[in-house]
Amino acid sequence: MASLSFSFELFPPRTPEGVAKLPLVLDQLAAAHPAYFSVTYGAGGSDQEGTYETLLTVVRHTGVEAAPHLTCVGSTRKHIAALLDRYREAGVRRIVALRGDLPATALSPAAPGEFRYANELVSFIRQTHGDHFKIEVAAYPEMHPQASGPGADFDNFRRKVEAGADAAITQLFYNPAAYFDFMERCGKAGITIPVVPGIMPITSYASITKFCAGCGADLPRWVRLRLEELQFDRAALHDFGAGVVTRLCETLVKNGAPGLHFYTINQAEPTLRLLRNLAAAVPA
Ligand code: FAD
Repeated sequence: MASLSFSFELFPPRTPEGVAKLPLVLDQLAAAHPAYFSVTYGAGGSDQEGTYETLLTVVRHTGVEAAPHLTCVGSTRKHIAALLDRYREAGVRRIVALRGDLPATALSPAAPGEFRYANELVSFIRQTHGDHFKIEVAAYPEMHPQASGPGADFDNFRRKVEAGADAAITQLFYNPAAYFDFMERCGKAGITIPVVPGIMPITSYASITKFCAGCGADLPRWVRLRLEELQFDRAALHDFGAGVVTRLCETLVKNGAPGLHFYTINQAEPTLRLLRNLAAAVPA
């Protein structure tokens, strides 16, 4: 089996404790030799300075490539152009290009501002910077919650690929069949870019049910019931969650997933535990 390629997602820490803890988390994660780190960008641009600062911290502290997430909701071409220039000057070669989440009150699936959808952001990056940046986009094996249907959502994914995306990272999911179905649809549509599963470790009943509800991911009933039962037994819940997600990762990698992207939530151990579990089956 080919060696496993993986990347780690971080968010800009929001508290002094989070800032203080980041170097240790980076040391632990970097020791696993990820292909790159990515750093999220808050909805509505709220974390843009934080993304930049965290990106610099990652690169300086680990020497590993770091990719900023860039959302276009509510933004202007001028603002995005300035951000792209700033990232380019900082040595960035990879960007995760997204629309971003709309305000809860939004009536239309189109974002306010000069970019309505992520495919327009991808086109803009290509127009202004050619092939300088490797562009990653989001993919939704279980459908984006605001899409009018799975077919329309897939057509929208294809638009991002046609606009120049090099690779995609999926929304978190716990049904591997949804990923394989998505890949089958890519095959039929002639889409050959790598689509890397986004993997969220399970460490809390409250947070995983909230995440899944927020992004439209299906948490299988039996998993939800087991987590609910174990919610006040931290060690047992961690063991159970690690087992579920390890089996998910194994199934994905053994059946052709080109790599794994871990939503670390700035915690090293849950992700490293999964990688240790996977090491026997899938040499890194
Ligand atoms: P798009 O691809 O633009 O799709 C958005 C919706 O519009 C979909 O329902 C799609 O079907 C529909 N659509 C697209 N094009 C058209 C069209 N031409 N006509 C009609 N409908 C259309 N959010 C953040 O705020 N910050 C982050 O850092 C961040 N990182 C993420 C990383 C990953 C890997 C993923 C999977 C998601 C991330 N998100 C992040 C969440 C993301 O911003 C939301 O899911 C957002 O609602 C959609 O972004 P998108 O880029 O997928 O949008």
